[in-house]
Amino acid sequence: MKLDKMKFYLDKSIKEKFALPAFNTLNMEQTQVIVEAAETLNAPVILQITESSIKYAGFDYINSILAVADKSPNIFVHLDHGTTNENIIKCIKSSSFSSVMIDRSKETFIKNIAETALMKKEAGEKLVEAELGIVGGKEEEIVALESIYTNVDEAIEFVERTKVDLFAPAVGTAHGVYKDEPKLNYDLINSLRSKLSVPLVLHGSSGLTDEQLKLSIEAGINKVNIDTELKQNFIKGFLDHMQKDPEAYDLRKIFGSAKETMREIVLHKITVCGAKGKL
Ligand SMILES: [Zn+2]
Repeated sequence: MKLDKMKFYLDKSIKEKFALPAFNTLNMEQTQVIVEAAETLNAPVILQITESSIKYAGFDYINSILAVADKSPNIFVHLDHGTTNENIIKCIKSSSFSSVMIDRSKETFIKNIAETALMKKEAGEKLVEAELGIVGGKEEEIVALESIYTNVDEAIEFVERTKVDLFAPAVGTAHGVYKDEPKLNYDLINSLRSKLSVPLVLHGSSGLTDEQLKLSIEAGINKVNIDTELKQNFIKGFLDHMQKDPEAYDLRKIFGSAKETMREIVLHKITVCGAKGKL
């Protein structure tokens, strides 16, 4: 089964100290680039959508694109930042999805545990990711001014009581575009890695240097979420095309340029994560 394979690669990433890149998509073009790049580099890659992508594209449309992507042995489909039970359950029930994130990080510690544990039971065989602490920035409706670092003892208790399969700590990164230099806490990652057996997820990686990303993975990160940089590069390709040919109207050519610019960053991130050739 696909999700057994996802579990296999996540376990492998812990043993071999690499990370599975988790790229967000919201349309067919981005999805094609991510699937093709994963196949080109022989890498296990997570393809994820957010609730706002579901709202933008409509669940049936986006689910049909994901179903095609899911046919690739390199791709594992995931729901990022699931906040409504309705969306989480839709994704759990969809055969395209191997995993879902249940995000109750804004709730109190006790409520986060209770609600995550409840949805974990609902998820059955599917893998579940959850977050503790607050990753700053804006992701969907989640807005925080700054990160609130995850407490190690609370993290141990959280993973034990919720039985989650992937754990997303707050280690100093933020969602979206950075205004100040991010201060990553590698010691915290190290300490979480040594005390937890589940894979660790880094949210808000766009804008980190390759060096920061590599150090985080070396410290124990196993899944790296990448979204903003993909959008930025897609748009850059689009604008470059229009600047060179302001009269252009063939969407296939314009989106073709956008895809090529985005492809470079996807290939690069897979390589920096160390996932190249890990299939
Ligand atoms: Zn996130």
